[in-house]
Amino acid sequence: MSRSDDLFKRAQEAIPGGVNSPVRAFLAVGGTPRFIASARGSHVTDVDGRELVDYVMSYGAILLGHADPRVVEAVQRAAERGSSYGAPTEAEILLAERIEEAMPSIERLRLVSSGTEAAMSAVRLARGATGRPKIVKFAGCYHGHSDGLLARAGSGVATLGLPESPGVTEAAAADTVVAPYNDVAAISQVFDELGDQIAGLIVEPVAANMGVVPPAPGFLEALRALCDHADSVLIFDEVITGFRLGLGGAQGRTGVRADLTCLGKVIGGGLPIGAFGAVLDAIEEEPPYERLDAVASTLIESLTNAARATGVPLTINRESSLFSAFFTEQPVTDYESARAQSAGAYARFFHGMLARGIALAPGAFEAWFVSAAHTDTDVRKTVDAISDAMKEAAALG
Ligand SMILES: *Cc1c(COP(=O)(O)O)cnc(C)c1O
Repeated sequence: MSRSDDLFKRAQEAIPGGVNSPVRAFLAVGGTPRFIASARGSHVTDVDGRELVDYVMSYGAILLGHADPRVVEAVQRAAERGSSYGAPTEAEILLAERIEEAMPSIERLRLVSSGTEAAMSAVRLARGATGRPKIVKFAGCYHGHSDGLLARAGSGVATLGLPESPGVTEAAAADTVVAPYNDVAAISQVFDELGDQIAGLIVEPVAANMGVVPPAPGFLEALRALCDHADSVLIFDEVITGFRLGLGGAQGRTGVRADLTCLGKVIGGGLPIGAFGAVLDAIEEEPPYERLDAVASTLIESLTNAARATGVPLTINRESSLFSAFFTEQPVTDYESARAQSAGAYARFFHGMLARGIALAPGAFEAWFVSAAHTDTDVRKTVDAISDAMKEAAALG
C-alpha cells in the first residue's frame, strides 16, 4: 500500500469523502487521490516521493508556479506583521488600485476571501440595486457553492432552477433561471419573458468549469445588449480568467465590459488572500502570457497528433493559454455537448498520464492550467507521455 492509500483511508475517517473539495476526489477517474507533500515551480511531489509535472495548478490559482520565491518572501514579510486586524490597511487600497488599473470596467472593488463569496455578493448586490428577484446563469458555468448558484437546469431550453444539492431548498433555487451557454435565441427568450424580473445575469465570459468553452462570436455582446435593454446587471465571473488570459481578463480580450466583475484564484496566488501585491508585481514586471501561450500551443499540437495517430476522437477548445481536450469528435459549445464526451476514455488517459509523472485534474470537465514555471523539459516529458497515454485511451472499455 502506498502512503497516499494509507492517508486516504485515514482521511475518510476524519473528513467527509476524505477530501475537502469534491474536485480533489478521484470519483470520476477511479483510484486513490495522490496526497501532496510539497510543490515547487511546475512540479508537485506526493507523499510517496513521486515528483509530477503539474497541470492542475490549484485549479488555476497558481500562475507563476508553486512557491515562487517572490511570493514566498512577501507572505513571510506579511505574516511577521500579524495576519488580521479587523481594521483597514493601506495594502487593501494598493491592491484595489492595481486591479482597477488593469481591469477598466472595475471602478471600485470589495475584497472577500473566496470566489464563492465574490459571486454570492455580486448576486446580492444586483438584487439589492434593482429590487428584482431573478438571476440568470448558464448550464455548466460554475460560480462557487452558494445556494442560489447551485441550481441545475430542469428539462427544456431555459428553465427555472432546481436544487442541485440536498440542503438547497426549492425556494433558494427558484429565483435562478438556467439557460444553455452560447445560445443567443434561448437567452433572448428568457429576457423577453422575464426581463422586468431579472436582477442580473452571471456568466463565465470564457467558460472553464465544463472544460474550456469559449464564447461564440457575438454571444457576450448579445448578453451586454440584453442586460442594457432590461436594466439588468451583467456580472462577469472572471475568477479563472482574470489575470490568466491577460491583465484585463476576458474583458480585455473581448472588449465587452461587465457591470460587476468577480475575481479570485490568480489574485490570491494560492492563498485566500495575502501575497497578492507580489503576484501582480511579478506579472507586470515579467508578463508570462507569451510563454503560457507557447506552452499551450505545443501541448495542443501533441494532443492533436496523438489523437490522430490512434484514432481517438478528440476536440480541443482553447482561449489563449486556457484549453481543454474533450474525448468526443463533436464540437463542444455548451454543457450538453461537453457531457457527450467519453468519461471512460478520459479516465484511461488521466491514469496513463499519472503513471508517466504528469498530474491532470481528476475529472474531464477541467482545463489544463499551465504556469510561468513550466520548462521545456516539462513540456517534452508531457509530450512523450501524451503519445503513450493516448494509446491507452484508445483501448476499448
Ligand atoms: C473556482 C471558481 C469559483 C469559486 O472560487 P472559490 O475561491 O473556490 O470559492 C467561482 N467562479 C469560478 C468561475 C471559479 O472557477
